[in-house]
Amino acid sequence: MASRPSKRRIAIIGAGFTGSVLAAHLLRTAEEPTSVHLIERAPSVGTGLAYSTPNSAHVLNVRAYNMSAFPDDPRHFLRWLWAQDDVGSDDGGLVPPSGHAFVSRARYGAYIQDVLRNAQAAAPPHVSLTVTRAEVVDLAQDMNDGDGGIRLRLGTGPSLNVDLAALCVGNFSPSPPSVAEPEVLASDRFVAAPWDWQALAAIDADAPVLILGTGLTMVDTVLALEDQGHRGPVVALSRRGLLPVVHEETRPFKSFVHPQVMPHTVLDVLIALKADVRRARAAGLDWRSAFDALRPYHHLLWKNLPMEERRRFLRHARPYWEILRHRMAPEVAARIDSLVANGRLTIRAGRLRALRLLPDGVQATVRARGAEGGIWTRRIGAVINATGTECDFGRIDHPLVRSLLERGLARPDPLRLGLDVTEDGALIGEDGAVSRRLFALGPVSRPPFWEMTAVPELRNQCTAAARHLIGLPLGISPLPPLRMPRTRVSQ
Ligand SMILES: Cc1cc2nc3c(=O)[nH]c(=O)nc-3n(C[C@H](O)[C@H](O)[C@H](O)COP(=O)(O)OP(=O)(O)OC[C@H]3O[C@@H](n4cnc5c(N)ncnc54)[C@H](O)[C@@H]3O)c2cc1C
Repeated sequence: MASRPSKRRIAIIGAGFTGSVLAAHLLRTAEEPTSVHLIERAPSVGTGLAYSTPNSAHVLNVRAYNMSAFPDDPRHFLRWLWAQDDVGSDDGGLVPPSGHAFVSRARYGAYIQDVLRNAQAAAPPHVSLTVTRAEVVDLAQDMNDGDGGIRLRLGTGPSLNVDLAALCVGNFSPSPPSVAEPEVLASDRFVAAPWDWQALAAIDADAPVLILGTGLTMVDTVLALEDQGHRGPVVALSRRGLLPVVHEETRPFKSFVHPQVMPHTVLDVLIALKADVRRARAAGLDWRSAFDALRPYHHLLWKNLPMEERRRFLRHARPYWEILRHRMAPEVAARIDSLVANGRLTIRAGRLRALRLLPDGVQATVRARGAEGGIWTRRIGAVINATGTECDFGRIDHPLVRSLLERGLARPDPLRLGLDVTEDGALIGEDGAVSRRLFALGPVSRPPFWEMTAVPELRNQCTAAARHLIGLPLGISPLPPLRMPRTRVSQ
């Protein structure tokens, strides 16, 4: 039997916000000898998908005061911002002491890079960080190691043996529309990944553009088109044609939620929330104050909803939840409003029926929503798929996750929100066994929580996960798997 290395070896796969902040927490808190391996396939560490945009018009959708990487130091990001010489140069003015400002996502990426750098510089000698540029393409429980350790296969270079691995692989591009001809999807008229800035830049400035989706990703895309001087008309389409609402100032408000009397149906949550909104209005507050007062309880509310109620929420309330919860910064909303007002952007409600390749473009056929809607057909120059991140792991083409599913080390959750994990992030395998060594954090771990998308939730998860990973006992013999029943739901 191989002897256990004296250091605890932890691999973090993916160095966006989640992976980088988890690494920073491990460097800060590990009391025993620990080596942290942070592995990222992209050229830059710390930025991930959200914070790697080069466009300064792409601002955070959360105010600066709520974007600290550290839950125990809420003003950390603000102090960092104020210490920057050029703050305000691309962020629409100085950030006020209240932190009520929406700064660029690129700047936030620089902050996370500094968080990681500083944590590395301040780490005690018994904790080390190694950053590797590589894609992890496969992962297996290593029986040759004699202790059930993890072997990671990298796309380039040798494999890596560790004791624990955390998948922080983030957000995925939307799946293509099933009604599109394969020729459309294969053509350069279809932009499959809405964050592919090069593909957006290649769109003919006079081309009519159809954007699938009317959420925050559509908003990003429209701003990018505008900033590159796009002149053609832009139509954004979604089933209901709902735009994200705009942020407004909120005030502290006491939510209806009481841990001892949690609602067990979506209807009860809505009734209570409406009552809160009425109370807030009576007190002279905006509805957002009541809505935001629920934020600390999202996980508890979700946990108390039976599976059928969760399903009901996703079927009926999700589109409304998304636009009310994930809002636009006021300056962004103002630009979108003016584009709509001057006819440059049209928001349509309807269902895409077909995308057909023509010699000079793509023909889109749409059934408009509502009784008088009917069918409309347009020739367009480019289609951008901005329908939101894909979270159904049955549809995501990611070599590592595919291999985990094939090996039975992971399974999608029954509601197709991400990977099936415990509240600690431990992966649940195909047979219901809870892994003691494999974890998933960030948006892929959404199923037990519903909201595990934005920084205020992710930073808490990273803090708790770091504590958990450094506290786990690592025995010499293979750990017996725990078992979790699969909750039966009809698909
Ligand atoms: C466009 C966009 C804008 C957003 N804006 C905000 C905002 O303003 N405020 C907010 O709070 N939240 C925002 N979010 C939510 C976002 O989910 C989180 O803030 C956060 O960025 C998620 O970070 P992550 O590290 O989990 O995921 P990601 O940022 O997606 O990072 C995952 C990383 O893993 C790497 N990776 C994946 N697979 C492998 C592999 N096999 N091997 C090696 N590396 C791998 C990827 O290259 C990537 O760098 C936004 C999300 C998006 C998509």
